[in-house]
Amino acid sequence: MENRATTAILGAGITGLSIAHSLTNSAQSCHVFERSDRVGGAIQSTLENGYLAEDGPNSLLLKDTRVAELFDQIGLNGTKIQDTRPDAHNRFIVNQGTPCQLPTSPLRMLRSPLFGLSGLLRIAKEPFISRYKSKHEESFANFVRRRLGNNMLENGAAPFVSGIYAGDPESLSIRHAFPRLWAIENNHRSILMGALAMRKTKHAPPHRLSPTRTISFHSGLSELPQALARNLPQNTLKLNTKISAIEPCDGGWQISWTDLRGEQKSAHYQKLVITTPHHAISTLPLPHEIIQQLAPVAAIEAPPVTSLVLGFKRQQVAHPLNGFGMLIKSSENSPLLGVLFSSSMFEGRAPEGHVTLTCMMGGTHHPEYAENSDQIVLAELNKLLGITAAPTFRHRTHWQHAIPQYNLGYQKVLNALSLCEKSHAGLHFAGSYRGGISVTDCIINGLTLGKHLSKR
Ligand SMILES: Cc1cc2nc3c(=O)[nH]c(=O)nc-3n(C[C@H](O)[C@H](O)[C@H](O)COP(=O)(O)OP(=O)(O)OC[C@H]3O[C@@H](n4cnc5c(N)ncnc54)[C@H](O)[C@@H]3O)c2cc1C
Repeated sequence: MENRATTAILGAGITGLSIAHSLTNSAQSCHVFERSDRVGGAIQSTLENGYLAEDGPNSLLLKDTRVAELFDQIGLNGTKIQDTRPDAHNRFIVNQGTPCQLPTSPLRMLRSPLFGLSGLLRIAKEPFISRYKSKHEESFANFVRRRLGNNMLENGAAPFVSGIYAGDPESLSIRHAFPRLWAIENNHRSILMGALAMRKTKHAPPHRLSPTRTISFHSGLSELPQALARNLPQNTLKLNTKISAIEPCDGGWQISWTDLRGEQKSAHYQKLVITTPHHAISTLPLPHEIIQQLAPVAAIEAPPVTSLVLGFKRQQVAHPLNGFGMLIKSSENSPLLGVLFSSSMFEGRAPEGHVTLTCMMGGTHHPEYAENSDQIVLAELNKLLGITAAPTFRHRTHWQHAIPQYNLGYQKVLNALSLCEKSHAGLHFAGSYRGGISVTDCIINGLTLGKHLSKR
């Protein structure tokens, strides 16, 4: 038998670590079981030959006081936080084979090949458009088309969605995938008027941190899970563990596992929190009835995405790379979803005189593109950014189930999770398939659940 702890957490991604941090901060004991030999899950940074590659997320949005407090508590504050470089506020959208800068003012919109006068006039009508009235759940695409017009959907919003979800705007639910936008329409009718009203403190969301910062850390985003893990009490984290049994027992949960030395162990916990990715839940040795209840969770669509990080000599790239990156419209039929100009986003991503690009491919529309060869990617980079030379660095990561898609009908998933929790005392689920996919959402949801559990 293992030493006692109140809560077992399965998975040491950002969600599991945030829950563990919150619990141990309230003097509650927990064990975090992680199958692999490292913490962080999707957050993984690799430093190689002077290049810093991110396998998963490249940045996070610091926009909430609870996240800033967490960073303070784990010593990731002040100069340890890396803000984006000044050029990174520029974003590009590929239109007819050319990266076009996304305009940031009405005048620039007027001159932009992406919008023009008709696009601008249609956006100006937004404050006069009424709320959605149909009983049918609305897709993200329909929401944008209805409120801002087709031009805005195709040339701005849809590429933006492929950058976040690698998903299909016609299938994503506005209510579940973009709950804040959905709520603005509900609360203020117009999203433009609502956005203006929310600038005032009276209407500002609680915990809002202003201004919002897009950040990382000097050794990459991995510094965050590593700092969280370092701050946990000794013996909390159990890496390289294989869970062999999970059984309800005496109003709690009996968990058995094999540790990194191959020894069989078992312990009883009052609470069990599962934070593995949604597709891994059905592979856990859970009672059959729970697996059955969670069938809608196992069915969540999560298409494959590949991230290919490439380094080049600066003078071999014709484009100035003066921005965050470029998103590619689906009508371009590109083999890529988008490219992050990683070394323009943050300092220290490439050796002197070199640049780093992170190319994303795959997603809902073309899952097969996640298998694209380097040659295909290089030919596209040549076309879009004028890169003729061979790369000086290469780092490729394939995510078979990259991002859970909050598609129409997602309420079924949420209902299944709530029902399963209600019918099994002490059982909880958290992760990117519930309450938001971003690193920031995972942290906030993890801290909130940890706080809730420590009160019970
Ligand atoms: C390619 C990509 C790019 C992204 N870009 C961004 C971005 O730029 N900004 C942003 O905010 N978000 C981004 N995201 C989303 C964000 O990274 C994830 O949603 C978030 O990190 C998920 O965290 P998590 O802890 O819920 O899950 P995970 O990170 O998946 O962690 C789950 C953990 O559970 C472990 N596990 C699995 N099975 C078991 C088992 N049987 N027993 C024990 N442990 C197990 C896994 O090994 C893993 O460590 C991106 C995601 C991907 C894939």
